Formats: sequence, structure tokens, C-alpha cells
Amino acid sequence: MNDNRKDIDEEVIDIGDIVICDVCNADYTESNECGGFILGTWAYCPQCVRTKKFTMQEYARAICAPAWVTFRQLVLAVRNGDNTIRITNWKNR
Ligand SMILES: [Zn+2]
Repeated sequence: MNDNRKDIDEEVIDIGDIVICDVCNADYTESNECGGFILGTWAYCPQCVRTKKFTMQEYARAICAPAWVTFRQLVLAVRNGDNTIRITNWKNR
């Protein structure tokens, strides 16, 4: 039996309460700015939502927060306590 698992290396990193925009990498950890949304696995900060063009289908799928909820609160709520990111590397044969 061929075990391919040994060719996969996974690193799990706990990023705590850090909130970074997945598009522009701006740090919102200490920000109280409202806006932004979640689209798929990507968090779009308020600035990126204002400047990037989205299709109607993307708007329909986006997870938005009420106007009084900060981008930071939205991201942390969607994470639901799981503040880990996983980096998977496939080793060359
Ligand atoms: Zn951004």
C-alpha cells in the first residue's frame, strides 16, 4: 500500500484575535471601523469592499454584518473561536 500522507506536511498556527484583510493585508486588530464582508474563505475589509468590483452573485453570497458591527467583530464571529490557520506543504518526490 502506498502511503502518501508522509509527503504532506501541515503546519497549524494560532493567530489569536489578529484580524487582517485577506486582500490588502491591512491590520484591523485594533480597529473599530465598520463594514467589510466575508466572501467564501476571504475577509474583505471596508476599504477593499469600497474599491473592488463585485458581481451581483458575489454580493448575494457575501456574509455581511449590521452597520454597527465592526469588521473585526464580523471576522471573529465567523471564525467562531477557531483562530487557527493551516499551511499545507506537499514535498517533492
Ligand atoms: Zn482590504
